[in-house]
Amino acid sequence: MNSQKDYLKNIKPQNIKKLYNLPSKVVFCKKCVVSNQRPRITFDKDGVCNACNTQERNKNIDWNERKKKLDKLLSKFRRNNGEYDVVVPSSGGKDSAVVAHKLKYEWGMNPLTVTWSPNIYTKIGWENFQSLIKAGLPNILGSPDSLVNRRLMRDSLIEIGEPFQPFIYGLVNFPARIAIHYGINLIMDGENGEEQYGGSNETGEETFNLKEQEQYWFSSFPVSKWLKKGYTKKELHFYESLTPEEYIKNKITRKFWSHYNFWDPQEHYYYAAQNTGFKPNPDGRSESTYSKYASLDDRTDGFHYHFMYLKFGLGRCTSDAGHEIREGHLSRKEAVKLVEKYDSEFPKIYYKEFLDYLGITEQEYKKISDSWTNRDLFYKNNKGDWVLKQSVGKS
Ligand SMILES: [Zn+2]
Repeated sequence: MNSQKDYLKNIKPQNIKKLYNLPSKVVFCKKCVVSNQRPRITFDKDGVCNACNTQERNKNIDWNERKKKLDKLLSKFRRNNGEYDVVVPSSGGKDSAVVAHKLKYEWGMNPLTVTWSPNIYTKIGWENFQSLIKAGLPNILGSPDSLVNRRLMRDSLIEIGEPFQPFIYGLVNFPARIAIHYGINLIMDGENGEEQYGGSNETGEETFNLKEQEQYWFSSFPVSKWLKKGYTKKELHFYESLTPEEYIKNKITRKFWSHYNFWDPQEHYYYAAQNTGFKPNPDGRSESTYSKYASLDDRTDGFHYHFMYLKFGLGRCTSDAGHEIREGHLSRKEAVKLVEKYDSEFPKIYYKEFLDYLGITEQEYKKISDSWTNRDLFYKNNKGDWVLKQSVGKS
């Protein structure tokens, strides 16, 4: 494969609008703070995004009916012989903690939580992960070869402007491999992100499907593409997707908890704090947002959100505030203020560690981040900083 220096020499500004097929005119949702620059999002004739409409629809769902549906599903998979009967992909965060804990204690299942290790665990992330195990939930932790993971993360940042790409592969694929290994036929994922946060309307809301996996979860950059870029099959083993045939052959059913239960991260926080010893960020809010309890596990997390901000003008605060508006915990007016204040904040606390992990210099990082800054959305001010042309507060 090309050496890192060759890669860096060839970096040019990306045409993000064209790459993601984004509309030219920026429009913000009338109800929340997301804009039409989020890939695959749609707006109705009143200017409301499909994430808001989904959540509105969710409020009117008969959740008792859905619980009956869940009961029916689980009764097909429940085992009473001591064997594990459901895999819960888990980071140790609050959402998966709720899913696993409820499956065990409310539904009488025997869940095995499976964690794909964060790139660099934070102290609080590790503590929360341990608390989950202490709450009676056994776990298998998958840790990739760090040398491969670091290289793959660096190359993902350069090639697709997404440092989290290897983590997303592992998060989706490793639990499925463990399910096969232990002969477990049910996997219960948390929320369907495309539905909850605005994305394609074509995804199945209940069942994980493979089209979704490649196209949406992996942004049309499946693991196999790395084989053409000098990675070996052996290096990619744990990241690799199961084929549709493997899912069928091993009789694996993969569902979303959010189809059966109203998805409310704030409620999850209260539940996990009470039942699995979950603790919020001891430093207060996370960088680039006001939130204290979401995405706390990984020191490199801030850069996933930061690159989202550079590409689409939508940062971590937009993401947090968007769903809190939809769940009725925040007004749009308050949210706009928070987004104006925090969305552009650079994640500096773990910046040096992030550079060390990737093995790049600050100058090289700037070259990469510059190439992924959307020129249609940002302009360079006279200090040389990229500034958003049209933010939610100014629209
Ligand atoms: Zn909206």
